[in-house]
Amino acid sequence: MNRRRIIAGNWKLNGTLKEALELTQGVLKALSSLSEEVEVVLCPPFTALSKVGELLKGSRIRLGAQDVHWEPKGAFTGEVSAPLLKEAGCRFCIIGHSERRLWFGETDSNVHKKLLALIEEGLHPILCVGETLEQRQRGHTWEIIRRQLEAALEGLEPLAAARHLVIAYEPVWAIGTGQNATPAQAQEVHAKIRGWLSTRFGKAQAQSIRIQYGGSVKPENAKELLAQTDVDGALVGGSSLQVKSFVQIVESSPQGRQAPCCTG
Ligand code: PEP
Repeated sequence: MNRRRIIAGNWKLNGTLKEALELTQGVLKALSSLSEEVEVVLCPPFTALSKVGELLKGSRIRLGAQDVHWEPKGAFTGEVSAPLLKEAGCRFCIIGHSERRLWFGETDSNVHKKLLALIEEGLHPILCVGETLEQRQRGHTWEIIRRQLEAALEGLEPLAAARHLVIAYEPVWAIGTGQNATPAQAQEVHAKIRGWLSTRFGKAQAQSIRIQYGGSVKPENAKELLAQTDVDGALVGGSSLQVKSFVQIVESSPQGRQAPCCTG
């Protein structure tokens, strides 16, 4: 199946508002003739969402957040809800990122609540799953990922999954380390995820759900990773902070190459 590729930049806690706007403008200019076959998402820090969203209006580049709270409103100091993300112009939101699981006590059960809250608002969760190095070395990779998927997607209707869900396979040992999974390692896990989705939601639905790879994606390794059958895009951290490297990754995607006249 020809799934639309999706390349998302997770800017994490980087950049001032001014820098976020400059980066956005740079990406917009460099991707002005972006193919419809590729969806590009920028995920700046919360404080830059609205302004970046204004710049992206009318373009084909989408806005995403890096986290969300599951309640729509109330006494939850420091949190931001799905309706507020939508108001800021977001269409996507990363949830279950390993940095949140590791440093901020994110649990599978919270990830599940966040996923439902986003879908309720018509937003697309980018659900991150992945194993640590120790878990991989002990041969527990699939067991961990299956547990994360089962918990996050509990009770989700097949139609909602097919319409909204994006999954990011992010081996924890590859995030920010410069050591990416090999294309074969990524494909192996992505194929297992798709097989699990097929059992859980049905074959047709599983075929339409996009699975990104994340973990030290760079211009040098993007083409081979993105050429794998079940790798439908990338979630990019460090390399999304420079226009040049991010755009090179987008252009490494099959169908991501822009017309030579417009690449500037
Ligand atoms: C990430 O944080 O989602 C990520 C993939 O980071 P990096 O590309 O820097 O490894």
